[in-house]
Amino acid sequence: MKRDPGCIFCKIVAGEIPSLRIYEDDSVFAFLDIGPLADGHLLVIPKEHHERMDSASPDLIAAVARTLPMLSKAVMSAVGVDACNILLNVGRTAGQEVLHMHFHIIPRTSGDGLGYRWMAKKYPAGRADEVASRLRAALESDN
Ligand code: 5GP
Ligand code: ZN
Repeated sequence: MKRDPGCIFCKIVAGEIPSLRIYEDDSVFAFLDIGPLADGHLLVIPKEHHERMDSASPDLIAAVARTLPMLSKAVMSAVGVDACNILLNVGRTAGQEVLHMHFHIIPRTSGDGLGYRWMAKKYPAGRADEVASRLRAALESDN
Protein backbone atom coordinates (compact mmCIF):
# COMPACT_ATOMS: atom_id res chain seq x y z
CA MET A 1 0.00 0.00 0.00
CA LYS A 2 1.34 3.39 -1.03
CA ARG A 3 2.25 5.70 1.87
CA ASP A 4 4.12 8.94 2.34
CA PRO A 5 6.39 8.92 5.40
CA GLY A 6 5.94 12.68 5.81
CA CYS A 7 2.12 12.57 5.66
CA ILE A 8 0.23 13.17 8.89
CA PHE A 9 -2.77 11.07 7.81
CA CYS A 10 -0.52 8.16 6.76
CA LYS A 11 0.98 8.36 10.26
CA ILE A 12 -2.51 8.30 11.77
CA VAL A 13 -3.46 5.23 9.71
CA ALA A 14 -0.24 3.51 10.86
CA GLY A 15 -0.94 4.41 14.50
CA GLU A 16 2.28 6.44 14.66
CA ILE A 17 0.35 9.44 15.90
CA PRO A 18 -2.81 9.06 17.93
CA SER A 19 -6.33 9.62 16.66
CA LEU A 20 -9.85 8.89 17.81
CA ARG A 21 -10.62 6.08 15.36
CA ILE A 22 -14.30 5.63 14.62
CA TYR A 23 -14.24 3.11 11.76
CA GLU A 24 -11.87 1.17 9.59
CA ASP A 25 -11.93 -1.56 6.98
CA ASP A 26 -9.32 -2.90 4.54
CA SER A 27 -9.05 0.35 2.61
CA VAL A 28 -10.83 3.06 4.65
CA PHE A 29 -10.11 4.84 7.93
CA ALA A 30 -12.38 7.34 9.72
CA PHE A 31 -11.43 9.45 12.73
CA LEU A 32 -12.46 12.60 14.56
CA ASP A 33 -11.12 15.85 13.16
CA ILE A 34 -8.77 17.46 15.68
CA GLY A 35 -10.16 20.90 14.84
CA PRO A 36 -13.89 20.23 14.55
CA LEU A 37 -16.37 22.67 13.03
CA ALA A 38 -18.94 20.87 15.19
CA ASP A 39 -18.98 17.94 17.64
CA GLY A 40 -18.65 14.74 15.64
CA HIS A 41 -16.84 16.29 12.64
CA LEU A 42 -15.37 13.21 11.02
CA LEU A 43 -12.62 12.67 8.47
CA VAL A 44 -12.94 9.69 6.14
CA ILE A 45 -9.83 8.72 4.20
CA PRO A 46 -8.38 5.94 2.09
CA LYS A 47 -5.64 4.11 3.99
CA GLU A 48 -3.47 4.38 0.92
CA HIS A 49 -1.77 7.73 0.34
CA HIS A 50 -3.19 9.81 -2.51
CA GLU A 51 -2.66 13.54 -2.40
CA ARG A 52 -5.90 14.50 -4.05
CA MET A 53 -9.19 12.90 -4.96
CA ASP A 54 -8.34 13.28 -8.64
CA SER A 55 -5.10 11.31 -8.24
CA ALA A 56 -6.80 8.28 -6.64
CA SER A 57 -8.40 5.45 -8.58
CA PRO A 58 -12.18 5.45 -9.07
CA ASP A 59 -12.35 2.09 -7.27
CA LEU A 60 -10.57 3.47 -4.21
CA ILE A 61 -12.79 6.55 -4.15
CA ALA A 62 -15.80 4.27 -4.45
CA ALA A 63 -14.56 2.23 -1.47
CA VAL A 64 -14.32 5.39 0.62
CA ALA A 65 -17.60 6.86 -0.65
CA ARG A 66 -19.43 3.61 0.08
CA THR A 67 -18.92 4.22 3.80
CA LEU A 68 -20.41 7.74 3.75
CA PRO A 69 -24.10 6.86 4.20
CA MET A 70 -23.31 4.64 7.21
CA LEU A 71 -20.84 7.08 8.76
CA SER A 72 -22.93 10.20 8.19
CA LYS A 73 -25.98 8.50 9.73
CA ALA A 74 -23.87 7.47 12.74
CA VAL A 75 -22.49 11.00 13.13
CA MET A 76 -25.95 12.60 12.94
CA SER A 77 -27.44 10.06 15.33
CA ALA A 78 -24.58 10.39 17.83
CA VAL A 79 -24.76 14.16 18.03
CA GLY A 80 -28.54 14.40 17.65
CA VAL A 81 -28.89 16.33 14.40
CA ASP A 82 -30.63 15.55 11.13
CA ALA A 83 -28.31 17.32 8.69
CA CYS A 84 -24.69 17.33 7.67
CA ASN A 85 -22.39 18.55 4.94
CA ILE A 86 -20.05 16.15 3.20
CA LEU A 87 -17.11 18.13 1.92
CA LEU A 88 -14.13 17.19 -0.19
CA ASN A 89 -11.53 19.85 -0.85
CA VAL A 90 -9.43 19.18 -3.95
CA GLY A 91 -6.26 21.26 -4.04
CA ARG A 92 -4.89 24.03 -1.88
CA THR A 93 -6.85 26.77 -3.63
CA ALA A 94 -10.03 24.91 -2.66
CA GLY A 95 -8.92 24.79 0.97
CA GLN A 96 -7.17 21.42 1.08
CA GLU A 97 -4.47 21.72 3.72
CA VAL A 98 -3.64 18.07 4.30
CA LEU A 99 -2.51 16.50 1.03
CA HIS A 100 -3.95 13.03 1.69
CA MET A 101 -7.44 13.01 0.23
CA HIS A 102 -10.26 13.08 2.75
CA PHE A 103 -13.97 13.61 3.04
CA HIS A 104 -15.26 15.76 5.89
CA ILE A 105 -18.57 14.83 7.48
CA ILE A 106 -19.74 17.97 9.27
CA PRO A 107 -22.91 17.85 11.40
CA ARG A 108 -25.14 20.89 10.95
CA THR A 109 -27.63 22.63 13.17
CA SER A 110 -29.71 25.62 12.24
CA GLY A 111 -28.02 28.87 13.17
CA ASP A 112 -24.59 27.24 13.57
CA GLY A 113 -23.07 29.95 11.38
CA LEU A 114 -21.23 27.46 9.19
CA GLY A 115 -21.53 27.38 5.45
CA TYR A 116 -20.12 28.74 2.27
CA ARG A 117 -20.38 32.21 0.89
CA TRP A 118 -22.40 30.90 -2.04
CA MET A 119 -21.95 33.81 -4.37
CA ALA A 120 -24.05 32.60 -7.28
CA LYS A 121 -23.63 34.50 -10.51
CA LYS A 122 -25.36 34.39 -13.86
CA TYR A 123 -23.79 33.29 -17.15
CA PRO A 124 -23.74 36.07 -19.70
CA ALA A 125 -25.38 35.21 -23.04
CA GLY A 126 -23.56 32.38 -24.84
CA ARG A 127 -21.15 31.63 -22.02
CA ALA A 128 -22.94 28.54 -20.62
CA ASP A 129 -22.95 26.88 -24.07
CA GLU A 130 -19.27 27.67 -24.51
CA VAL A 131 -18.36 26.26 -21.10
CA ALA A 132 -20.49 23.15 -21.67
CA SER A 133 -18.70 22.53 -24.98
CA ARG A 134 -15.32 22.82 -23.30
CA LEU A 135 -16.38 20.39 -20.58
CA ARG A 136 -17.61 17.81 -23.10
CA ALA A 137 -14.35 18.18 -25.07
CA ALA A 138 -12.29 17.75 -21.89
CA LEU A 139 -14.18 14.56 -21.06
CA GLU A 140 -13.64 13.21 -24.56
CA SER A 141 -9.91 13.93 -24.52
CA ASP A 142 -9.50 12.33 -21.07
CA ASN A 143 -11.41 9.16 -21.93
P1 5GP B 1 -8.47 20.18 4.76
O1 5GP B 1 -8.37 21.65 5.05
O2 5GP B 1 -7.18 19.61 4.22
O3 5GP B 1 -9.66 19.81 3.93
O4 5GP B 1 -8.74 19.49 6.16
C1 5GP B 1 -7.74 18.97 6.97
C2 5GP B 1 -8.38 18.65 8.30
O5 5GP B 1 -7.50 17.80 9.00
C3 5GP B 1 -8.63 19.88 9.17
O6 5GP B 1 -10.00 19.99 9.46
C4 5GP B 1 -7.78 19.62 10.41
O7 5GP B 1 -8.41 20.02 11.61
C5 5GP B 1 -7.56 18.12 10.36
N1 5GP B 1 -6.31 17.69 10.96
C6 5GP B 1 -5.08 18.19 10.67
N2 5GP B 1 -4.14 17.54 11.39
C7 5GP B 1 -4.79 16.61 12.13
C8 5GP B 1 -4.35 15.64 13.07
O8 5GP B 1 -3.17 15.49 13.39
N3 5GP B 1 -5.31 14.84 13.62
C9 5GP B 1 -6.63 14.96 13.30
N4 5GP B 1 -7.48 14.13 13.90
N5 5GP B 1 -7.08 15.88 12.40
C10 5GP B 1 -6.17 16.69 11.83
ZN1 ZN C 1 -0.88 10.12 3.38
